[in-house]
Amino acid sequence: MKKIVVLGGGGFIGGHLAKSLKEKGNHVRICDIKKHEYFKHEEICNEFVLGDLRDPNVVQLVIEEGVDEVYQLAADMGGAGYIFTGENDANVMHNSALINLNVVHECVKKQVKKVFYSSSACMYPEHNQLDPLNPNCEESSAYPANPDSEYGWEKLFSERLYLAFNRNYGLDVRIARFHNIFGPFGTWVGGKEKAPAAMCRKACESKNGDQIEVWGDGQQTRSFLYIDECLEAVFKLMESNFTNPVNIGSEEKVTINELAQMAINISGKDIKIKNIFGDEFIKKYGFKCPIGVRGRTSDNSLYEKTVGWKVSKPLKDGLEKTLHWIDNQIKIKNV
Ligand code: NAD
Repeated sequence: MKKIVVLGGGGFIGGHLAKSLKEKGNHVRICDIKKHEYFKHEEICNEFVLGDLRDPNVVQLVIEEGVDEVYQLAADMGGAGYIFTGENDANVMHNSALINLNVVHECVKKQVKKVFYSSSACMYPEHNQLDPLNPNCEESSAYPANPDSEYGWEKLFSERLYLAFNRNYGLDVRIARFHNIFGPFGTWVGGKEKAPAAMCRKACESKNGDQIEVWGDGQQTRSFLYIDECLEAVFKLMESNFTNPVNIGSEEKVTINELAQMAINISGKDIKIKNIFGDEFIKKYGFKCPIGVRGRTSDNSLYEKTVGWKVSKPLKDGLEKTLHWIDNQIKIKNV
């Protein structure tokens, strides 16, 4: 049994991760600024500390001597409507950087054996992601750096922070660049939800003959990884000796309209897609359509070579599970 701390365990990936670590028999302590919306504390951890990781005193209390592993997932983040509008840039950078600065310092001080840091595909340069059919997200393409959002710049800074602590203080780090992780028990409404949850919700809330709104022209491409596969990939990475940043994602590239159509097909309804962008979008929402880069998908060659494991399940399987969970949440909300 290991002593494990999951920072950001009140969130989507952190909650699933903590639950899985606890089920494997580890002693799990979570720290988050909020409680988990769907899981009960006893399901996902042995101790839940409600605290703000921007405060070094909180981090000092949470990361004690004798901790085997820290998983750092806490970040000020959200979907496109939160991180790409520009309105939250200062908070996104300030809050997440403070958390990571506190965490590396404390992990070295308390001699934590291994630390996992969740970076993001948003750190890849915009100029390699202009062609929706042929984006380049190979790990080696990260520099010269040019992420398209401040969220991406903060992730890049923090990757470098963990790597510097590895070089100078021997902190044993594992760094994953997540590409769009999705699944049940995550944000599905309210503006911070990601595309798969948003498409599922829209399909569930519509009736035959309705239209669902898809931001942008719908031709932008992405890939999406189901949470169970993400966790497996994280655990394999932790077991490996690979300390450089590596992609964790799916290589099944789809356009956003294809993703929406997949959700519609799963719902079994006759629903049309309405793409909204340009002036029409600004008129309706009051800000420029926040679609991010034109194309992005994971490149798993490095992960497969160094860690020796392959992501395998099709997007449709995970989307089905997510849609059914969201459908149920809508029913619960409307009771
Ligand atoms: P999430 O928002 O559900 O989880 C993040 C958690 O961090 C939240 O519970 C939030 O309350 C907590 N947090 C934020 N500020 C805090 C603070 N000051 N003190 C304590 N807790 C704080 O997001 P997620 O989707 O679970 O993502 C987890 C990590 O993975 C994040 O670092 C994110 O940047 C990264 N990531 C996620 C994706 C994805 O597709 N979900 C993709 C790339 C990277």
